[in-house]
Amino acid sequence: MLVLNSGSSSLKYQLLDMAGSGPDRGARLASGIVERIGEGPVADHEAALKQAAAELDRQGLGLDSPELAAVGHRVVHGGTRFTEPTLIDDAVLAEIEKLVPLAPLHNPANISGITVARGLRPDLPQVAVFDTAFHATMPEAAARYAVDTATADRFGVRRYGFHGTSHAYVSRATARLLGKDPAEVNTIVLHLGNGASASAVRGGVCVDTSMGLTPLEGLVMGTRSGDIDPAAIFHLARVGGMSTDEIDTLLNKRSGLVGLCGDNDMREIGRRMGEGDPAAQLAFDVYVHRLRKYVGAYTAVLGRVDAIAFTAGVGENSAAVREAALRGLGALGIEVDAVRNAIRGSSARLISAAASRVAVAVVPTDEELEIATQTYALVNR
Ligand code: AMP
Repeated sequence: MLVLNSGSSSLKYQLLDMAGSGPDRGARLASGIVERIGEGPVADHEAALKQAAAELDRQGLGLDSPELAAVGHRVVHGGTRFTEPTLIDDAVLAEIEKLVPLAPLHNPANISGITVARGLRPDLPQVAVFDTAFHATMPEAAARYAVDTATADRFGVRRYGFHGTSHAYVSRATARLLGKDPAEVNTIVLHLGNGASASAVRGGVCVDTSMGLTPLEGLVMGTRSGDIDPAAIFHLARVGGMSTDEIDTLLNKRSGLVGLCGDNDMREIGRRMGEGDPAAQLAFDVYVHRLRKYVGAYTAVLGRVDAIAFTAGVGENSAAVREAALRGLGALGIEVDAVRNAIRGSSARLISAAASRVAVAVVPTDEELEIATQTYALVNR
């Protein structure tokens, strides 16, 4: 399986061996990234995929290999139309195109990747795996905004959620870590990367998530504000004289950690906090406060929480964020073990104290493996 994650300026690719069974299943045969698409030598996505293909060729794993069975594409927005991995044909591509207004930055890049890959290997099944799909099971009570229904429906204004591939993978991997069937486990997944989202997963089924119509809602992120009073936008327009595009850029690119302290990398923020830097400390505190609110909210949504799983760059690496987010929650049955939390590692592991009723885990995410798994399941159905 070739997995393509085609962004606006980069193309990430991985070749995974999904044949066979056992621990080798999903072995990574090759992976790479082509960056700065649109600048200099890599003019467009076609040039980027050709460069990736040449690199795979050099490794003896060319795109023309008869062993290549399918291509799995990450697609950010599936709207309400796509709730499962979908075999791509012209009609499906046209539907994904129709969703561009909901994801103007992401879907066009995904479409470019699909179009180029279909051009190079028209004989292969190509599958779209949507970031929104895992969240399609959210009940209406969680998916609806309390906005005039006719207007909301006319413009597709509802909560879709993102990072679904990661939330799906991590919630299952957490159940596996506990030695349980996903259907028996209620999990809060905290995907904390540069983008960040939380989800409440009941028995393997998503019942709420923090991102909404777009990836802007919810947690504090590297450069995004997360939750904000929508009236702040009117205020910035009316009083601040800012245009819609300027406010969009402010909230998506110049807010979050970077807006609060100038850095979006949690490592750098930790270093500055060690020097007593107040802006870095404030950024950390706002980030952690929001995270705690969501843990509390999703505890109430789920009623019974069996596990809390931290994943992605910050979640997998920042013991300080994990500790601060769950500090003092013993009354909720949540106790982190300081020693376990401090141990670094690359595999799924428990960091909760033996007495903790809720298992707290660090579970590395693997979106490419999940896309390959879903693609494989679809083409072998
Ligand atoms: P991701 O989007 O999942 O690749 O996560 C990227 C983010 O993870 C970076 O912006 C950093 O803030 C964070 N990160 C990566 N490594 C570390 C680390 N060792 N300690 C703290 N944060 C980290």
